[in-house]
Amino acid sequence: MAITHNLGFPRIGARRELKHATERYWRGDSSQEELETAGSQIREQNWQRQAVLDYAPVGDFSFYDHLLDNSFLLGHVPDRVAITGGNALDRYFRVARGRSAGDDDASAIRAGEMTKWFDTNYHYIVPELSADSTFSLDADRLLSQVEEARKSGVTPKPIVVGPVTYLWLSKAEDESDRLALLDRLLPVYHELFETLAANGVDWVQVDEPALVYDLDVDWKKAFETAYGHFADTSARLMVTAYFGKLADNIQMAANLPVAGLHVDAIKGRDEVSKIVAALPADKVLSLGIIDGRNVWKADLAGLLDWLEPIAKQLGDRLWLAPSCSMLHVPIDLASEKNLDPEIKNWLAFGVQKLGELEVLATALNHGRAAVQRALDGNAEAIASRRASARVDDPEVKQAAAAITPQLGQRNTSYAERAEQQYNGLNLPEYPTTTIGSFPQTKDIRKARQRYKKGNLSREDYVAEMKREIERAVREQEQLDLDVLVHGEPERNDMVEYFGEQMAGYAFSEYGWVQSFGSRCVKPPILYGDIRRDQPITVDWLKYAQTLTEKPVKGMLTGPVTMLNWSFVRDDQPRSQTCMQLALAIRQEVLDLEASGINVIQIDEAALREGLPLRRSQWQEYLDWAVEAFRVTANGVADTTQTHTHMCYSEFNDIIGSIAAMDADVITIETSRSNMELLDVFDDFDYPNEIGPGVYDIHSPNIPAENQVVELMNKAGERIPPERLWVNPDCGLKTRQWDEVSPALANMVSAAKSLRHSHA
Ligand code: GLN
Ligand code: ZN
Repeated sequence: MAITHNLGFPRIGARRELKHATERYWRGDSSQEELETAGSQIREQNWQRQAVLDYAPVGDFSFYDHLLDNSFLLGHVPDRVAITGGNALDRYFRVARGRSAGDDDASAIRAGEMTKWFDTNYHYIVPELSADSTFSLDADRLLSQVEEARKSGVTPKPIVVGPVTYLWLSKAEDESDRLALLDRLLPVYHELFETLAANGVDWVQVDEPALVYDLDVDWKKAFETAYGHFADTSARLMVTAYFGKLADNIQMAANLPVAGLHVDAIKGRDEVSKIVAALPADKVLSLGIIDGRNVWKADLAGLLDWLEPIAKQLGDRLWLAPSCSMLHVPIDLASEKNLDPEIKNWLAFGVQKLGELEVLATALNHGRAAVQRALDGNAEAIASRRASARVDDPEVKQAAAAITPQLGQRNTSYAERAEQQYNGLNLPEYPTTTIGSFPQTKDIRKARQRYKKGNLSREDYVAEMKREIERAVREQEQLDLDVLVHGEPERNDMVEYFGEQMAGYAFSEYGWVQSFGSRCVKPPILYGDIRRDQPITVDWLKYAQTLTEKPVKGMLTGPVTMLNWSFVRDDQPRSQTCMQLALAIRQEVLDLEASGINVIQIDEAALREGLPLRRSQWQEYLDWAVEAFRVTANGVADTTQTHTHMCYSEFNDIIGSIAAMDADVITIETSRSNMELLDVFDDFDYPNEIGPGVYDIHSPNIPAENQVVELMNKAGERIPPERLWVNPDCGLKTRQWDEVSPALANMVSAAKSLRHSHA
């Protein structure tokens, strides 16, 4: 009998109930009790949804971040928070969000650092370690949720992040050896497992996704030490690996002295036979066969063909699950009333994926006939997607197949074209610019919503956006910036905005996925060949350019970022989809150029974060990602200046690829690191121009002129000043005008004083 379980369910609620409840609490509009009630309602609903499973997850719910919960579970709370008053929930939110010093409260507290959870778009709060870190078990919350789960009728399987992955994801602020803390951590985990067992828990899920990385000897040994230490525990441990293959960690993982191992059979189906062979005869194998990272229906018949012999071989030792926690997919497709029915029929969100799991288990346990209708319906949907004319666009495929390296090649070298650009654009030294967006005011958002709902005519909407563009242009002229932008008022989101105007993209209404804390994103669904028939940005940009003599920079989202921030097709390689996006955006670039826009920025905010987890796969990714950018950007004349922008600017290992994109100018995020991120340019002679951010747009602070000068002088030690630009770290859409204007004024006067002293 195959057993079913889940590695985690989304906690935000189908209507983002958690977001609303926590934000109400933070605003002071509700009590802690009300927040707790909202939390338990969401948990209860989730368990009801998962009642079909043999084991339901407990501990996947969190008010902010499950890794932060894990830190509290281990009694590992930063001192700056532990010593302040308030109850546990207050301390918890203080680590998550920080606290700014107010009039009546002079105790500002820095929030914990946030970073991306593996290669997903979820962000966790980084545990802060030092050589003196101590741990002590605080399991009350987890235990009470175990009790709660039992009351709602499911068999609870508590989830914790395992000790090795916990250390892997931590940061030692004193640069001490993280693994040295393992010895201190293991007894606390041991106590936790014993406590859970004493409370009637049978299985505990111990998440160890660090198992899918390239591990050196020390980290491999840490796994063996840790699980060796737990060998005598009374609870049965299911160690879970996900987000990739085990590869050279198969032998080690298969032989850890625990009761079960979960592997990602979406990413690593081809290594499952090796794992089965390596597994000791008494060990449970959980196969993650339903994609926890994407939204497509699984091909159930195809899966059964593959699973049936494995089920025969493993019998009771086979468990079935999604590949990873469902945290990364939307909750319920049934909420979607406006999705095209043909496309909707190809999709499965969280609830639907649980249904698929149940069908597979029933088919394995009782024969396919027991679920014939469900299997027939699934087969029909899979066939409909494969044959659909909506997916397939032969013309697009042909164009993508005809891409040659030539297409990504500028006509001349950077040095030759740079001179033409400077003359044509009439740029001074240390030119100033911004990254594209200006504050998205309440009025802008209101107008967009009214327009979307049909309460504002197209004409009135356009007029209102044009007023905003004019305001932004006037302001920039007054500030005396050199390369202006139109301000992006018409964009809700930099991916959705472009996706909405291309064929091959679909959009959900409630397909929210948690990004961090109460923040959610709604990734578009990329289902078919990509086609752009109409110009997308040209009218806005042309209008902006009529308002000023200065160059206005056209603003586009690049193909790699479009890809990395969407749910993508699983029926063709990502690289192919990316090339189709590149061709579509290339067309937009050429149309902008033809309409007189001579500076064009192609944002690749997500290029760096898309790097595969394993280093051995980096080059392949970088090769096609860079090629896609080149195809998008490099078809322009010498006189057109191309820019790109990246948010995450840790380029140490990939600087060669960044240079190979051959953008004339790259703007990056560096101000918060005090230009330290530019160290990479000590050894690498970056050939083109760079705008290292001098204004931290994530903070309300306004940089002073001398601070900007100082930062730029630091940058000038690594990059020849004649190739430096002066600009903020990122777009300004989350800031207020009364912060942005003085900050940019200081930035511009800093640039002027730099020109002066440099001349
Ligand atoms: N052009 C975008 C903006 O200014 C870039 C945003 C980003 O890099 N995430 O908002
Ligand atoms: Zn950015």
